[in-house]
Order: sequence, then structure tokens, then C-alpha cells
Amino acid sequence: MDVHEHDALKPCPFCNSNEVKLFKTELSPRVCVTCFKCGARTNFFESASEAIDAWDKRYDNSGIGQCPFCGDRSYTGFMIGDGFQIACHHCFSVGPWCRSMAYALGRWSSYGSVVFDA
Ligand SMILES: [Zn+2]
Ligand SMILES: [Zn+2]
Repeated sequence: MDVHEHDALKPCPFCNSNEVKLFKTELSPRVCVTCFKCGARTNFFESASEAIDAWDKRYDNSGIGQCPFCGDRSYTGFMIGDGFQIACHHCFSVGPWCRSMAYALGRWSSYGSVVFDA
């Protein structure tokens, strides 16, 4: 695991945390930007700058089910560990880790507003 600090990263669109870092696993040379508080992340990219660009994009005209990074409305819920996350079909970013699918969907749809604890 290799984690770097990066000053330019925007706070998490889902939980507003600044615990946002570049993240790389041993399994892959690719990197993503992830929120260490809620587990939201971008897709994995070949370079750190691509991951940072993906994270820093914000789609402000939020609506139900809309991805905060690209504005797309198609997404999939999936189980991870003993919880759930939502992934965007367009940019492959992933929303916060939540204990139930209902919470995961709620947080995917309510970024930018006050979020409830999962
Ligand atoms: Zn977060
Ligand atoms: Zn997206």
C-alpha cells in the first residue's frame, strides 16, 4: 500500500471529509483517490493526475441518483464485505460504504447536503 498526501484534493462530496488521499494497492499499479472516512472513491487510473482530475470534478446540479463526479444517473449497487456501495456506470466512481443498500442509495442521492450516519 502506498498513500500520498496531496494538498489539491477537494473534500469528499459525500461526507465533506478532508481525509482524502491517493490510494494504491499491491495488487495493481493503478491508483484511485479515496475518502478514508466513508470509503467513496474514484475509478482506478494509470496515473495519479488522472485520479485527481476525476475526484476534483464536481457535478453541482445534483439530482436523485446523480453521480457527483460526472452527473450520470446510471448506477449499480453492490455488496462489499458486510455492507453496500453504489458505483457509477459512467465514470466507475464508488459512493460511501454503508450497512444497508437503502443508506447507500440515500447517500449517493444526497451528496452535498447534510448526510446521516450509516
Ligand atoms: Zn467521504
Ligand atoms: Zn460518474
